[in-house]
This record gives sequence, structure tokens and C-alpha cells, in this order.
Amino acid sequence: MDLGIKGRWAVVCAASKGLGKGCALALAREGVNLAINARDVDTLAATAAELRLLGVEVREVAGDISQPDVRAALVAACPQVDILVNNAGGPPPGDFRDWEREDWLRALELNMLTPIELIKATIDGMAERGFGRIVNITSGSVKAPIATLGLSNGARSGLTGFVAGVARQPQIAGNNVTLNGLLPGSFDTDRLRSGFHRAATLSGRDEGELVDAGKQEIPAGRFGSAEEFGAFCAFLCSAHAGYLTGQNLLLDGGAYPGTY
Ligand code: NAP
Repeated sequence: MDLGIKGRWAVVCAASKGLGKGCALALAREGVNLAINARDVDTLAATAAELRLLGVEVREVAGDISQPDVRAALVAACPQVDILVNNAGGPPPGDFRDWEREDWLRALELNMLTPIELIKATIDGMAERGFGRIVNITSGSVKAPIATLGLSNGARSGLTGFVAGVARQPQIAGNNVTLNGLLPGSFDTDRLRSGFHRAATLSGRDEGELVDAGKQEIPAGRFGSAEEFGAFCAFLCSAHAGYLTGQNLLLDGGAYPGTY
């Protein structure tokens, strides 16, 4: 299926590894030009080189996406932003009793206010041109909060509520601009693996056993891949997905037990 987005420009945040990279690769395969970001310059350059092999233009902006100058440079790197994939590292797990105000402000800054600022910087241009796709990578914890991920539950729920209102504004939805949340369950990335490593270290249990047990909790019996996550994201960004907006779509191999 031709997704109908060849030649468009996308900003993909936090895209040197994992889910963000999966989205960038899938968009590049569709002929979408990219501005990508992450903090580590060398990893970002290596990913940019991989993407260029697919024949698209790729511009790199290294830095922490929660910094205003980094966001401004990322948007300025594109002639226009047709597609925006918001992503960042997730907040650390822990006990809410241990978190200070500064911990909350960091989580809100990175996982709520940063995507909101990027939406604000790009959405009116999308509406004027009659095409825009905004995908926010959040977490399955938006639908089924995880007790140890309170910072993530809170910040991502705030973003989700904000986006639900914007997506339904007639000047946005009526001009072929969509906003949706993509909610990953367990995907086989460095972040997931480091979580198992930490759990094994803290509990003294075998890491391989913990990984196997984690897979068994998922009806699909496996973790997702960044590649399949990216393919779904590319469809959401496609010309064919203009009637799909204001939704929060779980990709979790059936892990969420509810019907709705
Ligand atoms: P990952 O494999 O660790 O990759 C994270 C990417 O984000 C890297 O490219 C990293 O590069 C970049 N990054 C991190 N912090 C950044 C920052 N402040 N500014 C710019 N770039 C930044 O993680 P992932 O598994 O793809 O996770 C992506 C998001 O999905 C996270 O928010 C995570 O919480 C969420 N999520 C993931 C899963 C899962 O199963 N994987 C499940 C639920 C939610 P640098 O370190 O060089 O900056």
C-alpha cells in the first residue's frame, strides 16, 4: 500500500534508538524527509546515516528535547513540518513518597509540556496547508497505570487530556490535521531491557527468567519490535488515516485485559 506521504517532512523526536528510530525508519521507507533528534551526537549521526541510505533527506539536531532551543532548531530544520512524532525518554520508576517537586517538574517538562510546545509550534501551519499528522508516543500506562511509574502516569495523562481537546477543534480536525496517541505495551528496546536488568539486580533473580516471565504475561507471548511499532505509526501518518483522530491506540500484544 502506498501511504501517500512521499516527499513530506517529518520531525521525529528522540529517534536515535528504540521506538522513535522505528518510526523514523518506517517514514523514511515511505519517502518522508526527516528532522531527527536525540542527545548523544554519535548515535544520532549513525541513525541519520542509516536513514539516508533509504534515499530521503535527513537533518539531525542533537540535544535534550525538553530544551526550547533544541525544539526550535528541530522545527527550523524542516522547510515545513507535515508530520510530528513526539517522543522522549520516560521518567524513572520509584515510590511517589521519594519524589520531590523537582522530579515532578522534570517529568511534566519532558513528557507533557515538551510535546505541547511542539504541537503549538507546528499545528497551525499544518491546518493552513490542509495536511498534518501528530503522533504522541505515550505508554500503555495511560490506560492501565503502573504503580511504580507514577511520574509517567501523571505526565502522560496530562498530555492525553490536552490532546483530546485540541484534536476535536473544528479548525484542526476540519483541515485534515489529526492528533493521536500511540500507547506501547512492552517493546524490545534498550529501555525495556534496562528495566529487566534493574529488576534482576534488585531482586537477585535471574534476568533471563524475568524476561521469559514478562513475555508470558502478554497474550502474544512476546515483546513487540520497534519495526512493527514504526509501521503502525507510519500508517497513522498516512494520507489514508485522515478520519482517525483524538484516539489512544494500544499496541501491546493483548496485554490490556479490558474490552474498551
Ligand atoms: P530507548 O530505546 O531507550 O530509546 C530512547 C530514545 O530517546 C533514544 O534515541 C534516546 O537517545 C532518546 N532520548 C531520551 N531522552 C531524550 C531527551 N531528553 N531528548 C532527546 N532524546 C532523548 O526507549 P524506548 O523504549 O524507545 O522508549 C521511548 C518512549 O516510549 C519512552 O518515553 C518510554 O517510556 C516509552 N515507552 C516504552 C515502552 C517499551 O516497552 N519500550 C513501553 C511504554 C512506554 P539519547 O539517550 O541519546 O538522548
